[in-house]
Amino acid sequence: MSPDIVFTLFYILISFGLIYPPSEFLSAGFTVQQWFGNLLGSEPEHFVRYHIRNSILNLFVYSCLPVLYVILLFVLGFVDEVSELFIGNTILWSVFASTSIILPLMALLQIQFWRENNFEKHPIVMNLKKFCNNNTHWETVASEINNEYRRLEKVCVSTSPWAKVIVTENWVLKVTPLTMFVAHQSDASLVVKEASNYQVSHMSPSETQFLNIEVKSGRTDPFIIRINATSFKDLENRLARTINILPNVKFHKSVVEQFVDVFKEAIRNNPRYVVNMELEQCIGCLQSQSEIKLNKLCDDVGGQQDNCTACFCRPMWCVDCIAKWFVSRQDPEQRGQWLSSKCTCPMCRATFCLLDVSLLVDVEI
Ligand SMILES: [Zn+2]
Ligand SMILES: [Zn+2]
Ligand SMILES: [Zn+2]
Repeated sequence: MSPDIVFTLFYILISFGLIYPPSEFLSAGFTVQQWFGNLLGSEPEHFVRYHIRNSILNLFVYSCLPVLYVILLFVLGFVDEVSELFIGNTILWSVFASTSIILPLMALLQIQFWRENNFEKHPIVMNLKKFCNNNTHWETVASEINNEYRRLEKVCVSTSPWAKVIVTENWVLKVTPLTMFVAHQSDASLVVKEASNYQVSHMSPSETQFLNIEVKSGRTDPFIIRINATSFKDLENRLARTINILPNVKFHKSVVEQFVDVFKEAIRNNPRYVVNMELEQCIGCLQSQSEIKLNKLCDDVGGQQDNCTACFCRPMWCVDCIAKWFVSRQDPEQRGQWLSSKCTCPMCRATFCLLDVSLLVDVEI
Protein backbone atom coordinates (compact mmCIF):
# COMPACT_ATOMS: atom_id res chain seq x y z
CA MET A 1 0.00 0.00 0.00
CA SER A 2 1.35 3.39 -0.87
CA PRO A 3 1.99 5.78 2.01
CA ASP A 4 -0.67 8.26 0.93
CA ILE A 5 -3.34 5.56 1.07
CA VAL A 6 -2.13 4.51 4.52
CA PHE A 7 -2.29 8.13 5.62
CA THR A 8 -5.78 8.54 4.14
CA LEU A 9 -7.10 5.47 5.93
CA PHE A 10 -5.49 6.62 9.16
CA TYR A 11 -7.02 10.06 8.78
CA ILE A 12 -10.50 8.64 8.13
CA LEU A 13 -10.13 6.49 11.23
CA ILE A 14 -9.07 9.42 13.41
CA SER A 15 -11.85 11.63 12.02
CA PHE A 16 -14.42 8.98 12.70
CA GLY A 17 -13.02 8.57 16.21
CA LEU A 18 -13.35 12.30 16.83
CA ILE A 19 -16.96 12.39 15.69
CA TYR A 20 -17.94 9.15 17.35
CA PRO A 21 -15.30 8.58 20.02
CA PRO A 22 -14.80 4.95 21.07
CA SER A 23 -13.99 4.29 24.72
CA GLU A 24 -10.25 4.15 23.94
CA PHE A 25 -10.37 7.73 22.63
CA LEU A 26 -12.42 8.87 25.60
CA SER A 27 -10.11 7.38 28.18
CA ALA A 28 -7.04 8.75 26.37
CA GLY A 29 -8.65 12.22 26.43
CA PHE A 30 -8.60 12.28 22.65
CA THR A 31 -11.81 14.26 22.25
CA VAL A 32 -12.76 17.71 21.07
CA GLN A 33 -14.17 18.46 24.54
CA GLN A 34 -10.86 17.63 26.20
CA TRP A 35 -8.84 19.84 23.89
CA PHE A 36 -11.11 22.85 23.94
CA GLY A 37 -12.64 22.35 27.39
CA ASN A 38 -11.69 25.89 28.43
CA LEU A 39 -13.86 27.42 25.74
CA LEU A 40 -16.89 25.49 26.89
CA GLY A 41 -17.11 26.55 30.53
CA SER A 42 -18.45 24.30 33.21
CA GLU A 43 -21.16 21.81 32.40
CA PRO A 44 -22.54 21.49 35.95
CA GLU A 45 -22.72 25.24 36.40
CA HIS A 46 -24.07 26.38 33.06
CA PHE A 47 -25.47 23.24 31.57
CA VAL A 48 -27.41 24.80 28.70
CA ARG A 49 -24.69 27.33 27.79
CA TYR A 50 -22.15 24.56 27.86
CA HIS A 51 -24.09 22.55 25.32
CA ILE A 52 -24.77 25.52 23.06
CA ARG A 53 -21.04 26.21 22.97
CA ASN A 54 -20.29 22.54 22.57
CA SER A 55 -22.54 22.25 19.52
CA ILE A 56 -20.82 25.25 17.94
CA LEU A 57 -17.42 23.80 18.63
CA ASN A 58 -18.42 20.40 17.25
CA LEU A 59 -19.86 21.88 14.08
CA PHE A 60 -16.70 23.88 13.47
CA VAL A 61 -14.32 21.02 14.19
CA TYR A 62 -16.27 18.59 11.99
CA SER A 63 -16.34 21.10 9.16
CA CYS A 64 -12.55 21.50 9.32
CA LEU A 65 -11.75 17.81 9.02
CA PRO A 66 -11.68 17.66 5.20
CA VAL A 67 -9.58 20.80 4.75
CA LEU A 68 -7.17 19.66 7.44
CA TYR A 69 -6.72 16.47 5.46
CA VAL A 70 -5.91 18.42 2.30
CA ILE A 71 -3.45 20.62 4.18
CA LEU A 72 -1.77 17.63 5.84
CA LEU A 73 -1.27 16.02 2.44
CA PHE A 74 0.85 19.01 1.56
CA VAL A 75 2.63 19.35 4.90
CA LEU A 76 3.57 15.67 4.93
CA GLY A 77 4.90 15.94 1.40
CA PHE A 78 2.44 13.72 -0.43
CA VAL A 79 2.00 16.51 -2.98
CA ASP A 80 4.74 18.88 -4.03
CA GLU A 81 2.81 21.84 -5.37
CA VAL A 82 0.07 23.78 -3.61
CA SER A 83 -1.66 24.11 -6.97
CA GLU A 84 -1.77 20.33 -7.28
CA LEU A 85 -3.75 20.24 -4.04
CA PHE A 86 -6.70 22.08 -5.41
CA ILE A 87 -6.55 21.36 -9.09
CA GLY A 88 -5.53 17.75 -8.78
CA ASN A 89 -5.70 15.04 -11.38
CA THR A 90 -9.36 14.22 -11.35
CA ILE A 91 -12.57 16.23 -11.29
CA LEU A 92 -13.60 14.34 -8.16
CA TRP A 93 -10.52 15.50 -6.31
CA SER A 94 -11.01 19.13 -7.40
CA VAL A 95 -14.59 19.01 -6.17
CA PHE A 96 -13.51 17.49 -2.84
CA ALA A 97 -10.69 20.00 -2.37
CA SER A 98 -12.86 23.00 -3.13
CA THR A 99 -15.67 21.71 -0.93
CA SER A 100 -13.20 21.23 1.88
CA ILE A 101 -12.47 24.96 1.87
CA ILE A 102 -16.10 25.92 1.59
CA LEU A 103 -17.24 23.73 4.50
CA PRO A 104 -15.55 25.66 7.34
CA LEU A 105 -16.77 28.91 5.80
CA MET A 106 -20.31 27.61 5.71
CA ALA A 107 -19.97 26.42 9.29
CA LEU A 108 -18.81 29.89 10.31
CA LEU A 109 -21.80 31.44 8.59
CA GLN A 110 -24.10 29.00 10.36
CA ILE A 111 -22.49 29.78 13.70
CA GLN A 112 -22.86 33.51 13.05
CA PHE A 113 -26.52 32.91 12.25
CA TRP A 114 -26.98 31.00 15.52
CA ARG A 115 -25.27 33.69 17.56
CA GLU A 116 -27.53 36.50 16.43
CA ASN A 117 -29.92 37.88 19.06
CA ASN A 118 -28.48 35.88 21.87
CA PHE A 119 -28.74 32.52 20.08
CA GLU A 120 -32.44 32.90 19.26
CA LYS A 121 -32.01 30.67 16.20
CA HIS A 122 -29.82 28.01 17.75
CA PRO A 123 -31.51 24.58 17.67
CA ILE A 124 -31.13 24.14 21.44
CA VAL A 125 -32.67 27.53 22.10
CA MET A 126 -35.43 26.86 19.59
CA ASN A 127 -36.25 23.70 21.52
CA LEU A 128 -36.21 25.55 24.84
CA LYS A 129 -38.43 28.30 23.50
CA LYS A 130 -41.23 25.80 23.05
CA PHE A 131 -41.42 25.67 26.83
CA CYS A 132 -41.63 29.40 27.42
CA ASN A 133 -44.94 30.31 28.97
CA ASN A 134 -46.38 33.81 28.67
CA ASN A 135 -43.49 35.19 26.67
CA THR A 136 -40.90 34.31 29.24
CA HIS A 137 -37.37 34.34 27.93
CA TRP A 138 -35.67 31.08 26.96
CA GLU A 139 -33.04 31.79 29.56
CA THR A 140 -35.66 31.32 32.25
CA VAL A 141 -36.25 27.79 30.99
CA ALA A 142 -32.50 27.28 30.68
CA SER A 143 -31.86 28.33 34.25
CA GLU A 144 -34.59 25.98 35.46
CA ILE A 145 -32.84 23.14 33.66
CA ASN A 146 -29.44 24.29 34.95
CA ASN A 147 -30.72 24.28 38.52
CA GLU A 148 -32.17 20.83 38.25
CA TYR A 149 -29.06 19.51 36.54
CA ARG A 150 -26.96 20.69 39.47
CA ARG A 151 -28.98 18.62 41.91
CA LEU A 152 -27.85 15.17 42.84
CA GLU A 153 -31.06 13.35 42.16
CA LYS A 154 -30.78 13.37 38.40
CA VAL A 155 -30.25 10.32 36.25
CA CYS A 156 -27.64 10.45 33.48
CA VAL A 157 -27.43 7.61 31.03
CA SER A 158 -25.16 7.47 28.05
CA THR A 159 -25.39 4.50 25.76
CA SER A 160 -23.23 5.85 22.98
CA PRO A 161 -20.54 8.50 22.75
CA TRP A 162 -23.00 10.30 20.54
CA ALA A 163 -25.89 10.85 22.89
CA LYS A 164 -26.53 11.28 26.56
CA VAL A 165 -29.87 11.16 28.32
CA ILE A 166 -30.52 13.16 31.44
CA VAL A 167 -33.66 12.99 33.52
CA THR A 168 -34.06 15.61 36.20
CA GLU A 169 -36.97 16.27 38.49
CA ASN A 170 -39.04 17.87 35.73
CA TRP A 171 -37.14 17.47 32.49
CA VAL A 172 -36.14 14.76 30.07
CA LEU A 173 -33.12 15.83 28.02
CA LYS A 174 -31.23 14.15 25.24
CA VAL A 175 -27.93 15.77 24.38
CA THR A 176 -26.30 15.09 21.02
CA PRO A 177 -23.18 16.73 19.55
CA LEU A 178 -25.13 19.37 17.68
CA THR A 179 -28.33 19.85 19.62
CA MET A 180 -30.39 18.98 22.65
CA PHE A 181 -33.90 17.57 22.73
CA VAL A 182 -36.08 18.70 25.56
CA ALA A 183 -39.34 17.50 27.07
CA HIS A 184 -41.07 18.55 30.24
CA GLN A 185 -42.20 15.59 32.29
CA SER A 186 -45.61 17.10 32.99
CA ASP A 187 -46.74 16.78 29.40
CA ALA A 188 -44.52 13.98 28.17
CA SER A 189 -45.34 10.35 27.64
CA LEU A 190 -42.67 7.69 27.37
CA VAL A 191 -43.19 4.49 25.46
CA VAL A 192 -40.76 1.63 24.99
CA LYS A 193 -40.97 1.04 21.26
CA GLU A 194 -38.31 -1.50 20.68
CA ALA A 195 -35.90 -3.72 22.52
CA SER A 196 -32.79 -5.06 20.87
CA ASN A 197 -30.35 -7.57 22.23
CA TYR A 198 -26.63 -7.53 21.71
CA GLN A 199 -24.15 -10.07 22.83
CA VAL A 200 -21.33 -8.27 24.57
CA SER A 201 -18.84 -11.00 23.97
CA HIS A 202 -19.38 -14.25 22.21
CA MET A 203 -17.65 -16.02 25.07
CA SER A 204 -20.51 -15.37 27.45
CA PRO A 205 -24.13 -16.28 26.92
CA SER A 206 -25.26 -13.08 28.61
CA GLU A 207 -26.59 -10.30 26.46
CA THR A 208 -27.10 -6.61 26.80
CA GLN A 209 -30.46 -5.26 25.90
CA PHE A 210 -31.08 -1.77 24.64
CA LEU A 211 -34.44 -0.09 24.72
CA ASN A 212 -35.61 2.57 22.35
CA ILE A 213 -37.97 4.80 24.25
CA GLU A 214 -40.00 7.41 22.44
CA VAL A 215 -40.53 10.62 24.34
CA LYS A 216 -43.64 12.39 23.15
CA SER A 217 -44.47 15.83 24.31
CA GLY A 218 -47.35 18.09 23.42
CA ARG A 219 -44.94 20.91 22.71
CA THR A 220 -42.16 19.35 20.68
CA ASP A 221 -41.61 16.67 18.10
CA PRO A 222 -41.15 13.23 19.58
CA PHE A 223 -37.61 11.98 20.03
CA ILE A 224 -36.09 8.62 20.81
CA ILE A 225 -33.87 7.94 23.78
CA ARG A 226 -31.86 4.79 23.84
CA ILE A 227 -30.92 3.23 27.13
CA ASN A 228 -29.50 0.04 28.47
CA ALA A 229 -32.25 -2.12 29.93
CA THR A 230 -30.38 -2.17 33.24
CA SER A 231 -30.89 1.60 33.53
CA PHE A 232 -34.61 1.24 32.98
CA LYS A 233 -35.50 1.06 36.67
CA ASP A 234 -33.37 4.11 37.51
CA LEU A 235 -35.04 6.03 34.78
CA GLU A 236 -38.53 4.97 35.74
CA ASN A 237 -37.90 5.84 39.38
CA ARG A 238 -36.79 9.32 38.39
CA LEU A 239 -39.82 9.94 36.24
CA ALA A 240 -43.04 11.22 37.66
CA ARG A 241 -44.98 8.93 35.36
CA THR A 242 -44.66 5.33 34.30
CA ILE A 243 -43.09 4.26 31.07
CA ASN A 244 -45.45 2.32 28.86
CA ILE A 245 -44.21 -0.74 27.10
CA LEU A 246 -45.68 -1.68 23.75
CA PRO A 247 -47.15 -5.19 23.86
CA ASN A 248 -44.87 -6.49 21.12
CA VAL A 249 -41.71 -5.51 22.98
CA LYS A 250 -40.03 -8.51 24.53
CA PHE A 251 -38.67 -7.02 27.65
CA HIS A 252 -35.26 -7.92 28.87
CA LYS A 253 -34.87 -11.54 28.08
CA SER A 254 -31.37 -12.75 28.27
CA VAL A 255 -30.19 -15.65 26.16
CA VAL A 256 -30.65 -17.89 29.18
CA GLU A 257 -34.22 -16.72 29.72
CA GLN A 258 -34.95 -17.17 26.05
CA PHE A 259 -33.53 -20.66 26.17
CA VAL A 260 -35.62 -21.54 29.21
CA ASP A 261 -38.72 -20.72 27.14
CA VAL A 262 -37.54 -22.90 24.26
CA PHE A 263 -36.63 -25.66 26.69
CA LYS A 264 -40.12 -25.62 28.18
CA GLU A 265 -41.66 -25.71 24.76
CA ALA A 266 -39.49 -28.67 23.79
CA ILE A 267 -40.28 -30.83 26.81
CA ARG A 268 -43.98 -29.97 26.86
CA ASN A 269 -44.79 -32.89 24.57
CA ASN A 270 -42.65 -35.49 26.32
CA PRO A 271 -44.57 -38.24 28.13
CA ARG A 272 -45.52 -37.21 31.64
CA TYR A 273 -44.16 -38.97 34.69
CA VAL A 274 -46.47 -40.31 37.35
CA VAL A 275 -45.25 -39.81 40.91
CA ASN A 276 -46.65 -41.52 43.92
CA MET A 277 -44.59 -39.85 46.57
CA GLU A 278 -44.76 -36.59 48.46
CA LEU A 279 -43.20 -33.82 46.34
CA GLU A 280 -40.54 -31.60 47.77
CA GLN A 281 -39.39 -28.12 46.91
CA CYS A 282 -36.97 -27.65 44.03
CA ILE A 283 -33.50 -27.86 45.53
CA GLY A 284 -32.22 -25.30 43.02
CA CYS A 285 -34.38 -22.31 43.89
CA LEU A 286 -36.18 -23.49 47.04
CA GLN A 287 -39.19 -21.62 45.68
CA SER A 288 -41.12 -23.84 43.30
CA GLN A 289 -42.31 -27.38 43.74
CA SER A 290 -40.37 -30.09 41.95
CA GLU A 291 -41.78 -30.34 38.47
CA ILE A 292 -39.69 -32.79 36.48
CA LYS A 293 -38.17 -36.23 36.58
CA LEU A 294 -35.19 -37.22 34.51
CA ASN A 295 -36.63 -40.26 32.84
CA LYS A 296 -34.63 -41.93 30.09
CA LEU A 297 -36.95 -42.31 27.13
CA CYS A 298 -34.76 -41.57 24.13
CA ASP A 299 -33.40 -44.24 21.81
CA ASP A 300 -29.85 -44.17 23.11
CA VAL A 301 -28.55 -47.56 24.12
CA GLY A 302 -26.50 -47.74 27.27
CA GLY A 303 -22.85 -48.55 27.53
CA GLN A 304 -21.51 -46.09 24.96
CA GLN A 305 -19.79 -42.92 25.87
CA ASP A 306 -21.96 -39.80 25.83
CA ASN A 307 -25.13 -41.85 25.50
CA CYS A 308 -28.01 -41.11 27.79
CA THR A 309 -28.27 -43.21 30.94
CA ALA A 310 -30.98 -43.74 33.50
CA CYS A 311 -31.23 -41.40 36.46
CA PHE A 312 -32.70 -42.82 39.65
CA CYS A 313 -32.94 -39.53 41.53
CA ARG A 314 -36.35 -38.54 42.83
CA PRO A 315 -37.99 -35.47 41.24
CA MET A 316 -36.20 -32.51 42.77
CA TRP A 317 -36.00 -29.72 40.21
CA CYS A 318 -38.41 -27.20 38.81
CA VAL A 319 -38.42 -26.67 35.04
CA ASP A 320 -36.67 -23.31 35.23
CA CYS A 321 -33.82 -24.62 37.34
CA ILE A 322 -33.18 -27.72 35.25
CA ALA A 323 -33.32 -25.59 32.08
CA LYS A 324 -30.81 -23.12 33.53
CA TRP A 325 -28.61 -25.99 34.65
CA PHE A 326 -28.83 -27.41 31.14
CA VAL A 327 -27.72 -24.07 29.60
CA SER A 328 -24.90 -23.68 32.06
CA ARG A 329 -23.38 -26.94 30.81
CA GLN A 330 -23.50 -25.95 27.14
CA ASP A 331 -20.85 -24.41 24.98
CA PRO A 332 -21.80 -20.70 24.69
CA GLU A 333 -20.39 -20.60 21.18
CA GLN A 334 -22.59 -23.39 19.89
CA ARG A 335 -25.96 -21.86 20.62
CA GLY A 336 -27.56 -23.51 17.62
CA GLN A 337 -26.83 -26.92 19.06
CA TRP A 338 -28.02 -26.44 22.61
CA LEU A 339 -31.37 -28.10 22.04
CA SER A 340 -29.84 -31.24 20.60
CA SER A 341 -27.08 -31.41 23.20
CA LYS A 342 -26.84 -33.43 26.35
CA CYS A 343 -26.26 -32.68 29.97
CA THR A 344 -25.75 -34.61 33.18
CA CYS A 345 -28.05 -34.91 36.17
CA PRO A 346 -26.84 -32.41 38.77
CA MET A 347 -26.98 -35.12 41.44
CA CYS A 348 -26.04 -38.51 39.98
CA ARG A 349 -24.37 -37.31 36.79
CA ALA A 350 -26.47 -39.56 34.59
CA THR A 351 -26.49 -38.21 31.04
CA PHE A 352 -29.78 -36.92 29.70
CA CYS A 353 -31.14 -35.18 26.62
CA LEU A 354 -34.27 -33.11 26.17
CA LEU A 355 -36.32 -36.21 25.38
CA ASP A 356 -35.51 -37.52 28.83
CA VAL A 357 -36.99 -34.64 30.79
CA SER A 358 -40.51 -35.62 31.83
CA LEU A 359 -42.87 -33.20 33.47
CA LEU A 360 -44.70 -34.66 36.40
CA VAL A 361 -48.39 -35.33 35.88
CA ASP A 362 -50.50 -32.31 36.84
CA VAL A 363 -47.66 -29.84 36.33
CA GLU A 364 -48.73 -26.83 34.30
CA ILE A 365 -46.13 -24.84 32.40
ZN1 LIG B 1 -36.18 -24.40 40.93
ZN1 LIG C 1 -29.96 -38.21 38.69
ZN1 LIG D 1 -31.52 -39.09 26.02
